[in-house]
This record gives sequence, structure tokens and C-alpha cells, in this order.
Amino acid sequence: MFRLFVTLLVFTLSLHAIGDKELLSRAHSFLKSKSKTNQFRAYNDYKNLYLRALMSEDKTLRVSSLKGIVRSGVKLHIDVTQYSTELNKIEPTPPKIVKKSKNLKIKSTHKLKSVRWNDGKLVLLFDKKLRNNQLNYFTSYDKNTKKNKYIFDIHASMLTRSQNLRKDDVERIKLAQFNPNTLRLVIQDSAKLKISFKKDNLSLIVKITAPKSSLKRSVAPENIPPQRLDRNKVIVIDAGHGGKDPGAVGYKKYREKVIVLSIAQRLKKVLVARGFKVFMTRDSDKFIKLSNRTKFANRKNADLFISIHANAVGKKIAKQVHGIECFFLAKSRSARAKIVAAKENSSDLSEMDIYGKQSFLNTLNSHNIVASNKLAIDLQRGALASLCKTYSKVKDAGVREGPFWVLVGAQMPAVLVEVGFITHPREATRLVSLKYQNKMAQGLANGVERYFLNN
Ligand SMILES: [Zn+2]
Repeated sequence: MFRLFVTLLVFTLSLHAIGDKELLSRAHSFLKSKSKTNQFRAYNDYKNLYLRALMSEDKTLRVSSLKGIVRSGVKLHIDVTQYSTELNKIEPTPPKIVKKSKNLKIKSTHKLKSVRWNDGKLVLLFDKKLRNNQLNYFTSYDKNTKKNKYIFDIHASMLTRSQNLRKDDVERIKLAQFNPNTLRLVIQDSAKLKISFKKDNLSLIVKITAPKSSLKRSVAPENIPPQRLDRNKVIVIDAGHGGKDPGAVGYKKYREKVIVLSIAQRLKKVLVARGFKVFMTRDSDKFIKLSNRTKFANRKNADLFISIHANAVGKKIAKQVHGIECFFLAKSRSARAKIVAAKENSSDLSEMDIYGKQSFLNTLNSHNIVASNKLAIDLQRGALASLCKTYSKVKDAGVREGPFWVLVGAQMPAVLVEVGFITHPREATRLVSLKYQNKMAQGLANGVERYFLNN
């Protein structure tokens, strides 16, 4: 109890609640950044703001945070359909947009009439001949995804919706209206491609040559194997607390350590059934130091570390606060994350002094942060999707960064899942039911699979 108090005090001293406006402008500037990490930060900030907006019933904030979630989500290739649908409901896209584009200085005078493959070459046919200054070709390499991108920006518009064009030896070819005046063709592959193009009367002809020596896809197009999941992955599941440390105690005296162990065991079962190799930091009611949990994962050469916890709040607000949240390790700016972290960290604060930890956080490698962030998003979405099918009022409390020491030292993507609030009567009742625990485990396992498919 005393330790908890000290931790809370230390955290509270450094805690400075950021106002909505401040957070919004920070998110906007993160969004403009070219770095994926910052774009993820923007995404998280917007989600944070979205929650605040829901809680305070602030419609303006809800609209601007939804817009931010959609914009950052699109940049990060996160599925944000649910948010854009919601945004459309509260603020239907006004037909005015057409007018707006008329106000823009440049107008696209050219229209794309058709796209087809001819003799292995991509042929884009326009209604008028393209001028040289209407075409801009450039390449880029994304260090995070390790993908080469070959991009054509064409000053023209298309009448149909964006489309994916398939070529069996290229990973991805996408054609879309980038902005009202620019049509963008993106060719993407992990291998270096040879791209050549020429204008021919009304057409733009693009020739894409993939290296023959590459290991992939020498097969006939109709035999392209579905994306295969490497199931030799090792996953360490960490059930929080245990032994002398009960974790949070909630509604009807339910104890966190019991609930999280049960969910962890179920998750292990599902993952093993799906072919993964799984280890657990604890498979019984015993106490383990926080740092030994990640050490264990490092020893096992784990590809992922998933720590499972349940959340709690004080009696006064117990009936209001519920929801599932996922945290990944990073220096936290969010006050909420700090409070949750303070609770989860309290069992062995003495292990490393707080300043030591803080300076450790400064050295975190950004690649791991991005990977952990992605994992957190996939797990969160997996759990929500699975639970929503059976239960009503399942709440997405967001994905955030937080200074969780149980994740410190993990050499692999690591996240902490707060499966729900054991202080909330409805959520606690669900959390102790085996049916709910199974749904949760299945959802998290879906998230793991999705993560491996995308990364
Ligand atoms: Zn916990």
C-alpha cells in the first residue's frame, strides 16, 4: 500500500494533464511528420481525444478526433472504416466538396478512361494527351515495412473508385485519387523492381519488371499460394501479478491475479491449437518479479510478449469506468497511462529506481516501439471484434503508450493488455465467466495472427 502511494506520488508530481486543445495541436503536428512513430503517436493522441470527447459529450472534439483517426489510420494502413462510418454519420460529407475543388488553383483537365494490362504492361488511357509536366515519377523506401515504392503522380482524375491492380510477381499495385487533381499509382514490393514508362499518344504505359532471381512466386498466377503464416513463432504470455501480489481487487472481491491467469491459460490453448509455440511466465498462483518476466521472454527468444492484466478504479467511479485497453512501452505523456502504470508497477518498484527507469526509457529503440504499437492495435481490435459479436456495450478504451516496467527490457514487441475493469459490476461479472474469457482469448489470438500476417 505504501509503495503504491509513493509511486502514485512520484507519478503525480511529474503528471501534467494536457488539455484537449494542446493535445489536438500536438496530434496535428505528429500527423504531419514523415516518421511512422510520430504518425502512430498522432493516431494514439486522436484516439485519446476521441475517448475524451465521448466522455465529455463534446461533439466538435469528437468530429476533429475522428477526422484525425481516419487520416492517421490511412497513413498507417490501419483499418479505420468503423471511425469513418461514424464520422460520416455525425458529419455527412457535404456535396460542397466539389465546389471546394473548383476553388483550387490547379484543375485536373484530364480524365482517366481505362486501365488494362497489355502484354504484361500496364496501360492507362486518358481522354487527352498528357503533357510532360502532368507526370511526376519518384521512388521511396520505407525502412519500417522494408518496402520499395514506385510512385506516379498524374495530374488527372479518375471516375471510378480506387483499385488494386494485380500482377502476380508484384506485391501491390494501387491506383487511387490522391487529391482532387492528382491520380496516384503506387507500385510496392519488398524486392527492387525495374520500372520504365513512356507516354504514347493518349496512354501512359508502365513496364514493371520483378527480379527473376527472387525467391518468391515463380508459380503461375492462378497458383499463387495464399499468404502463409509462419507458425514457428514463439509467444510468451505473462499473467500479471500472482502469489503474494493479488493485483487489483474489485467487484465482489474478484482478484486480478486469478482472472488474468485463467485468460492467459485460455489464450495459450488457442494459440497452441493454431500452431504457435507458447510459454507462460507463470502457470500457477506464484509471485514473479517484473523484470524476471521479460528476462524469461528473452531467454525463450520470444517473438512476442503479451502481459495480461485487469484494470481497476476507486469505488466512487466504479460503475462508470469500463473498457478494454492495450498499452505498449514508451515514455508516456498520457496522464491516464501513468496512473495505470503506477498501479501495475507497484509490486516491485524497489528493483530499479525511478530515474534509472526513466533514463532507460530514453534509450528504447524506436523500431520496437512501432512494432509494439502495431501489436497493441491488432490485439485490441482482435479482442473487441470477438467480444462484440456476443456482448453488448463492449468498450474500446484505446491503445496507448505507457511506462510499464514489466515491458522494460523485452527484446521483442511487447504489450500489456488490460482486459477490463474488475471494479465495474457488469465487466467484472463477464470477466469471471469462462465464456467471456474464451471469447477474449480467441480475439487476442486473432490479433496475434493478424500481427504476424502484416509484419
Ligand atoms: Zn495488473
